[in-house]
Amino acid sequence: MDVTNQTPRVPLSKFKRTKIIATVGPATNSYDAIAELIAAGVNGLRLNFSHGNYEERDEQIAWIRKASKAYGKPVAIIQDLQGPKIRLGDFEGIINVQKGQSLQFGYQADIERSGVIPTQYDLSKKVKRGERLFLYDGKIRTIVTSVKDGVVHAEAKNAGILIQRKGINLPDTDFAGDIITAKDKKDIAFGSERDIDYVALSFVQTAADIEQLRKRLKSLGSTARIIAKIETKASIDNLEEIIEATDSVMVARGDLAIETAAEAVPIVQRRIIGLGLAQAKPTIVATQMLASMTETPEPTRAEVSDVATAVILGADCVMLSDETANGQYPIEAVSVMKRVTTYTEQNNPLTVQFPDHPHKSLQSAVSKAIIGLAESLPATAIVAETQTGNTALQIVSRRPVMPLIAVTPDKRVAQQLAIVFGTKAYVRPVDPLAATKLTNWLLQNKVLAKGNIIVTASGKHPGVVGTTDTIKVRVL
Ligand code: PGA
Ligand code: MN
Repeated sequence: MDVTNQTPRVPLSKFKRTKIIATVGPATNSYDAIAELIAAGVNGLRLNFSHGNYEERDEQIAWIRKASKAYGKPVAIIQDLQGPKIRLGDFEGIINVQKGQSLQFGYQADIERSGVIPTQYDLSKKVKRGERLFLYDGKIRTIVTSVKDGVVHAEAKNAGILIQRKGINLPDTDFAGDIITAKDKKDIAFGSERDIDYVALSFVQTAADIEQLRKRLKSLGSTARIIAKIETKASIDNLEEIIEATDSVMVARGDLAIETAAEAVPIVQRRIIGLGLAQAKPTIVATQMLASMTETPEPTRAEVSDVATAVILGADCVMLSDETANGQYPIEAVSVMKRVTTYTEQNNPLTVQFPDHPHKSLQSAVSKAIIGLAESLPATAIVAETQTGNTALQIVSRRPVMPLIAVTPDKRVAQQLAIVFGTKAYVRPVDPLAATKLTNWLLQNKVLAKGNIIVTASGKHPGVVGTTDTIKVRVL
C-alpha cells in the first residue's frame, strides 16, 4: 500500500473543495511549521525562487514530503521562478525624487561615481523611448526619454523616494520571448532533478513563453506541470492563447495591479477563472488575500469577502504569500482560509455556466456523461482512474456537486491533483480493478458508507493514456 495514503483522515462530508496554497518563508522554515500548515488545510506549498538558496530548498522539499507522508495526504510543491523581475541594485540611503526630474538607470552602475542608479538587469537592451518604467511597486512612475550607451534616461511623473533593491515594472516593454532569465534556467535545471510538481513562470507575455518552458522541462526529463503567472499587460492581451498553452494559471495580483491598474484586476480575475473552467485548466488566486494577517490574528471583512469571492467565481485555489512566508500568524491565516472557503462552498453552491467546449474530446464527452449520471442518481462521489490526471481535470472543471476521487499509479499526478478543485487523489498500482479496490478500502476506512452510490470512470486499457471509455454505477 502506498504510504502517502495510509490513513484517509477526512470523511467525504467534511471534504474541503477549494484548495489552499501557502508560501514557505522565514516564518515557516522548519519541519514543524510545514507539518502544521499541512494539518491546518494546506494542499500546496510554494517555494519562491526569488529568495533563498539551493540548500534551503532541498531541506524544505524533504520536510514537505515527510510531513505530507506523516499526515497521509498528497501535497503539491510549486517552484515559483523569479522571471524577469527587475530590481534596483544596491545603494546607501534614500533617493528623493522630484516630479519632472530626470533619472538615469544603468546595469550595476556605481551611483557614487556616476549618479546613475544601479539596476540588477540590463534594461537598456529591452526598453524603448516613450515606454513607462515604474519603480517601487508603482510608487514612482516614469517615462523613458532616451537610451544611450547602456544608460536608460527617464522622467519622473511624480515625486517620491527610492530605496535599494525595490522592484521595477515595465508594462509597455516587449521582452520578445526572452522572459526566462539565466537564473531561471539554472533554477529550472535544479528543480528538474528534485521532487517538484509545478513550475510557475513569472511575467509571462505570450503562449510562446509557455512553450519555451515546456520544451526546456521536457528536455530535462521533468514531469512538472506549468503554472502561467498572469501579471503583465501583454499577458492580458494574449490571455486566451496563454491559457490554451499552459497547464494551470495564477492571477498574480501584485504585479498585475502595477502593470495594469488595481481596478482592472477583479475583472481580469473573473476572466481568468472563466477561461480556466472552460479549458479545464486549474486557476489560483494569489496575493494579499489575507494581507492584514501578516500582523494581526484576525482578517479584515474585505479580506474575508475577497477569499469568498474567489470561491464563488469558481477558482481551484486560493494562495497565501507574505502571510505564511513572513507573517506572524501563518497557521491562523490558513485556518481562516479554510473556514471561509468551506463556509462559502457549503452555503453558496456554484452554478457554473459552460460555454460549449471548443475541442470535443472523448474525455470531455465522457466527463459530461459521468456528471449527468452522478447527479441524477445522485451519487456520493465520482471515482476516476486517471493516468495523467487529465480525466480528473475534465470532470472537475465541470464542477460536479459531489467530490471526485482520483486513482492514479503516478505519485506525481496525485501530488499535482492536490491543488485541483474538489479532487482527492490516491496512488494505487495499475490494475483493472484499481477503482473498485480503492472504493472497498475507503468503505473499510469509513470514508464511504454502505449504501453509497459511486460512479466510476475507467478504461479498458488501464495504464494507457486517453482510454477512459467505461462508466460504471456501483451501490456499496
Ligand atoms: P510574486 O507573484 O509574489 O512572485 O511577485 C505574485 C504577484 O505578483 O502577485
Ligand atoms: Mn509577481
